[in-house]
Amino acid sequence: MGESDGGALDQRVERLVARLTLEEKAALCSGLDFWHTKPVERLGVPSVMLTDGPHGLRKQDASAAGTALNQSVPATCFPTASALAATWNRDLVSRVGAALGREARAQGVGVVLGPGANIKRSPLCGRNFEYFSEDPYLSGEMARSHIAGVQSQGIGASLKHFAVNNQEYRRMTIDAVVDERALREIYLAGFEIAVKGARPWTVMAAYNRVNGVYCSEHRRFLTDILRREWRHTGIVVSDWGAVNDRVAALKAGLELEMPGMPNGNDAQIVQAMRNGTLPESVLDEAVERLLRIILRAEETLRQGCDVDGEAHHALAREVAGEAAVLLKNEGPLLPLASDMQVALIGRFARTPRYQGAGSSLVNPTRLDNAYDEMVRLVGTERVTYAPGYDPRGDEVDRALIEEAVRVAEAADVAVVFAGLTDWYEVEGLDRQHMRLPVAHDALIAAVVEANPNTVVVLSNGAPVEMPWASQVKAILEGYLSGQAGAGALVDILYGRINPSGKLAETFPLRLEDTPCYACFPGGPATVEYRESLYVGYRFYDTVGKPVLFPFGHGLSYTTFEYSGLTLSHETMSDTETLTVRLKVCNSGRVAGKEVVQLYVRDVESSWFRPKQELKGFAKVALEPGEVGEVTFQLDRRAFAYFNPDLGEWHVETGAFEILIGASSRDIRLSATIWVTSTQPSAPSVDRGRLAAYVSPPADASFSREAFQALLGRSLPPNEIHRPYTLNTPLSDMRDSLVGRWLERMIRRNMEQMMAGMEESPTTMLFTAMMRDAPLRLLLMVSQGAFSRDMLAAILLLINRKPLRGLVALIKALWSRRPV
Ligand code: BGC
Repeated sequence: MGESDGGALDQRVERLVARLTLEEKAALCSGLDFWHTKPVERLGVPSVMLTDGPHGLRKQDASAAGTALNQSVPATCFPTASALAATWNRDLVSRVGAALGREARAQGVGVVLGPGANIKRSPLCGRNFEYFSEDPYLSGEMARSHIAGVQSQGIGASLKHFAVNNQEYRRMTIDAVVDERALREIYLAGFEIAVKGARPWTVMAAYNRVNGVYCSEHRRFLTDILRREWRHTGIVVSDWGAVNDRVAALKAGLELEMPGMPNGNDAQIVQAMRNGTLPESVLDEAVERLLRIILRAEETLRQGCDVDGEAHHALAREVAGEAAVLLKNEGPLLPLASDMQVALIGRFARTPRYQGAGSSLVNPTRLDNAYDEMVRLVGTERVTYAPGYDPRGDEVDRALIEEAVRVAEAADVAVVFAGLTDWYEVEGLDRQHMRLPVAHDALIAAVVEANPNTVVVLSNGAPVEMPWASQVKAILEGYLSGQAGAGALVDILYGRINPSGKLAETFPLRLEDTPCYACFPGGPATVEYRESLYVGYRFYDTVGKPVLFPFGHGLSYTTFEYSGLTLSHETMSDTETLTVRLKVCNSGRVAGKEVVQLYVRDVESSWFRPKQELKGFAKVALEPGEVGEVTFQLDRRAFAYFNPDLGEWHVETGAFEILIGASSRDIRLSATIWVTSTQPSAPSVDRGRLAAYVSPPADASFSREAFQALLGRSLPPNEIHRPYTLNTPLSDMRDSLVGRWLERMIRRNMEQMMAGMEESPTTMLFTAMMRDAPLRLLLMVSQGAFSRDMLAAILLLINRKPLRGLVALIKALWSRRPV
């Protein structure tokens, strides 16, 4: 019996805790370096490695801390999370997780840092490519499947970034101001599904604050909700550098601080224990939980494992083939006949854009490209190529466009590969707008003029505006499709794969239409989530706003007919489960897969509710003429909303519509169920006070007053003020001479570190990180050059206490002199 089977593991952990010294226990609560936990050699406690990331392994050298993002061991680069979600295929996502788990195991990695279940509040969030959806149910189901897959290999997953981390701008300090219902129904709900359904070994606390409290020390999140309500059994690890006050974080429920650095935090834990401010039981329980993870990983890693690289590449291709979403297909122009003369246009066709930048950047084992794949399929004589834009794409190159036009004119069909370049989707930076690079838009406009049979294939991790959408005949959204994506996209173009991806997010017509437009990304101190529950389709569908492509949309080369909707009950109590059945027929001529979506609408409610919410989905594969039966089970949570007055999920007695659709805007069948609540009725709601949310404005102009009424308190001031603290970003201290000096010195150091490097997404990430970073980050990045005492002294100087500051600085430097 393995130790993870329970008893033996518990006993070993108990014995270890009894033998560890206080210093050893404190030391276990932070990393050894960037990627490892600390060993305790005298007791045989190993060091375990944790590495990124959600769609492929990024295992760096132990010493590589900062700039070495590109230097990781080769690993399969699967499609990124936004593509995984577009498959709406739980099994497939689980298989990706399992493959990732195997690669981790083969590399001696015990915990994989992912998946990310944050909600895509705005299309502009720089890490949207790493996240699944604007919908919490879909995000949660995808995260659950991913974690289950990783952990099926005896490797831990780390569900991140918990929570309300929906932007990169000032991510280390921003305070997300969010109302209780949005918190529970939108921002926590996906995490809840994943934690309850897959029991991740670790959950990663996000950088930001929520309603004034840092996530890393958010007792309500980490202990009350995560551990007590959801019964999280693993540990909480900080995002890298997210710990503000170590003792407060430990008390709040954060066991592991990462990365390990000489920041004095272990000593603070020891001191707090000694002076009685930290109860022994808190530290002991944290260490027990940590040891359990460490020993479980050790047990797996002892066994080793082989990886079949070819099989993983093939899996990456299969996923990309299910993730691509056919947004438009007039004619239908697609699939292409193999004897057509194709003008393949756009640099991405030869140099694919297949993943995003930042901590999730994978060094792929191979990289396919569309040109080679197409030539392999139809022969060189059928394909002519023109690059159309330069690698950055930020300036229109007329000569390249003219060449592309000539090639397009001479062909039967033009296939343009366009999208967002590497510089647009970078961790640490939000996008500035929702448009494609100008050169891509200009190229498409010119090509479609030259050849009306134009197909656009997009590579991007999040929605973009498409001013040319009505002119081109077909649009295939490939997302960031991983190392093998190009082959899958070519297979779809030629009908070797029937597309079956559906959007896991709405594509709005314009950025201005997005519900958080007026308050994203906020700052400098707070970001107000004024739109509350009205995120993505919950907003567009409620106010009836036209969109470019709705949530859940995706075309196929076949057609599906929905029929025979039945409900197991006409009326039921909220303690019962409703079974929903229907039939789907493949009424076309080719085999295909359909994603059937189930939305629930509360016909009448005391509180405001969105028009409809996704509560179920199923992907069915059908041969031509085949009829499949789809079944959904709905429990009370499918009908409930979170009642902030009661502090719990509540079902209101009344009628609910069950809506079955091929997208949120293509509802094919519906039926009504009467649900009787067994809960005491909730306190009455002042709908007048919440009028803006009961009938949301179509332009999403939720006023400050309306939001305050919803929050039930006044908004915190959105400003950075003196006295500055360890949490003040360096760039906000420019009114101080010392602040400016410090910023300049850090900038100079960064420039030296990046000397000779061309501007790249990675250098952009580091520059943005340092600009927005709070002062305390110096403890992490300076490798011990700054001590906590030195920063405290510098702060005194910055806060105009020159004498006290100087004395403190001398003391801090003196205490560090070599003896
Ligand atoms: C990111 C995490 C990542 C960690 C380790 C952080 O900056 O936010 O997602 O897992 O670094 O690379």
